[in-house]
Amino acid sequence: MQALYPGSFDPLTLGHLDLIERAAQLFERVVVAVLRNPSKNPCFSVEQRLEQIRAATAHLSNVQAEAFDGLTVACAQRTGAAVILRGLRAMSDFEYELQIAHTNKSLAPQLETLFMATATAHSFLSSSVVKEVARFGGDVGHMVPTEVAEDLARLFNRTSPDQA
Ligand code: ADP
Repeated sequence: MQALYPGSFDPLTLGHLDLIERAAQLFERVVVAVLRNPSKNPCFSVEQRLEQIRAATAHLSNVQAEAFDGLTVACAQRTGAAVILRGLRAMSDFEYELQIAHTNKSLAPQLETLFMATATAHSFLSSSVVKEVARFGGDVGHMVPTEVAEDLARLFNRTSPDQA
């Protein structure tokens, strides 16, 4: 069975990566789908985000990254996924995620949304928090994969801790 893990991933965090690694054990194939959504004012281009995901998941042979726009259900159907994966960090995520899951079910009844609980150690992480910390020069080494930390350092014109 194949799963689609859709999101903005602007940028990929260790929370996302942990979820992808666990999903890769459960499904034959996991497609990480990066939403093209310019209205969200992303920090990283879709191509950069795909590169970040591909670099961080290079050790997982059944994980692929691709970009999509339009409906998530259409992307799931196109890629042959039977399951849409979403991560839940806290109750605050739940209401929104449940609404999206019901919407997707009404659009494509054969697709299931599966929620995976975030690893406790990463439950405080979000792409926005990471960007905020990096913008003000904080160490994000324990929050994101190495390549992402380097991209953030370049983006905010700082030397990454590894290069200091
Ligand atoms: P979106 O804009 O679609 O919410 P995100 O990139 O923020 O995109 O999140 C993509 C998915 O990853 C969502 O299901 C979200 O709940 C999940 N997620 C976000 N942060 C984490 C984390 N720290 N650990 C695990 N999953 C997460």
